[in-house]
Amino acid sequence: MLYLKTDEEVESLRESNMLVSRTLAEVARHIRPGVTTLYLDRIAEEFIRDHSAVPAFKGYGGFPATLCTSVNEEVVHGIPSAYQLREGDIISVDCGVILKGWYGDSAYTFAVGDISVEVKKLIDYTRESLEEGVRSAVAGNRVGDVSYSVQKKAESGGFSVVRELVGHGLGRKLHEPPEVPNFGKRGTGPKLEKGLVICIEPMINMGRKETRQMSDGWTIRTLDGKPSAHFEYAVAVNREKADVLTTFEFIEEVINKI
Ligand code: MG
Ligand code: MG
Repeated sequence: MLYLKTDEEVESLRESNMLVSRTLAEVARHIRPGVTTLYLDRIAEEFIRDHSAVPAFKGYGGFPATLCTSVNEEVVHGIPSAYQLREGDIISVDCGVILKGWYGDSAYTFAVGDISVEVKKLIDYTRESLEEGVRSAVAGNRVGDVSYSVQKKAESGGFSVVRELVGHGLGRKLHEPPEVPNFGKRGTGPKLEKGLVICIEPMINMGRKETRQMSDGWTIRTLDGKPSAHFEYAVAVNREKADVLTTFEFIEEVINKI
């Protein structure tokens, strides 16, 4: 059963996802060589609680932190630590909040200082694959249309799509049906209807698609040790054009000032 949100409920989800957008922008202000991922986590938690919300990941399935911070070959679910960011790193920051009972969930991959041309291309294609997915998230299409669009764009750059982790529905729970894979066939899967809210979140690898889980029980990294990028939007399906409940504008205002 897919839970379709009323217009009012979509507005509540927009509020929680806007708070995530602003939290990621706050994190962006602090990303530079020498900063620890644990420090970024503290910044995010404080910002979320100052806005009358609760970090959604902290305690979720036992996850210990507010952010998932995944550096370089780490794909997702990295645990904030004493690791100090270095020039040339990339860091995927995934953030979730609960505001008035509604979940927000978004991710962005940041460059730390100057990064290589190849890694920049990986980030750009991952971001663009997300936008392609959004373009397919219209009523009457199917989940497979979104999946196909993401995969097609990512692979056109010579990159590979992680299979083990997928996007999801979002609402009063962090993970609701349907699953939204970043690979698939057009015209397959559940039908998209107005009011369905989904997180589209391509996880794209520079090298091979295979991943493995680290012994901390959380961190997923690429098997070949090559970098991986991750972007995530929450999107309300609508009739002609998806309504993106997340924005990267606040983040990019910060980045463009640096
Ligand atoms: Mg997320
Ligand atoms: Mg998600």
